[in-house]
Formats: sequence, C-alpha cells, structure tokens
Amino acid sequence: MHEMSLAQNILEIVQDIMSREKLNGPGRLKEVAVQVGELVAVVPESLEFCFNVLTENTKLSGAQLKIEILPLSADCQDCRHQFHVENFVFSCPRCHSTKIEIIQGQELIIRHLEVV
Ligand SMILES: [Zn+2]
Repeated sequence: MHEMSLAQNILEIVQDIMSREKLNGPGRLKEVAVQVGELVAVVPESLEFCFNVLTENTKLSGAQLKIEILPLSADCQDCRHQFHVENFVFSCPRCHSTKIEIIQGQELIIRHLEVV
C-alpha cells in the first residue's frame, strides 16, 4: 500500500528529528504536520489511518498527523507561464508546449512537530 510506505517514511523522519533535537525525553509527540505534493497522490484519510496503525502501542501513540496537500504546479520552459497542472495534463495551457518543469507537487515535507 502506497500510504503505508509513506507513513513509514514520515515516521522515520520524525524519529530522526526527535533524536537529533533530543526530544526523546519524557515529552510526548502531540502533532506532526506534513505537506504532501498532489503528484504523490495520497489519500489523506488513508495516510492518517496508516500513521495511527504504525504508532499504536509505541512511544508516539496518540500523535496526530495533519496533512496539507500542495497543488501540482509547473513552469512552462517556452513561455515561462506558471500554472496549476490539472488532471495530470502536462502541457502549458497558454502555448501548449510540453516542455514544462514541475515546480511544486512532488514533495513530502515535515512542517513541524509538536511535543508536549
Ligand atoms: Zn507555455
């Protein structure tokens, strides 16, 4: 399942940050805010579910995963028009060029962690 491996990735990053920032003490992880690009094609409810399954009965149990989807945006290499890619049509709506560069929408970013 796509979401399961993503949730695993998120958890690994979170655990990394927590040990680096020495947040592994008595504090509990309350919230993890992530931004996921539209191209990653994630179903937020499903990602949340997987995250909850993976954190269940661990130190991170009860942490909330907040997901924000970043729209898929591209930049036309011919006319420099920037646009939102809709329905995965990878061509410029202005000049119909297919020489476009994705500028947003492929990322998975951990925005912040809240430890209480
Ligand atoms: Zn164009």
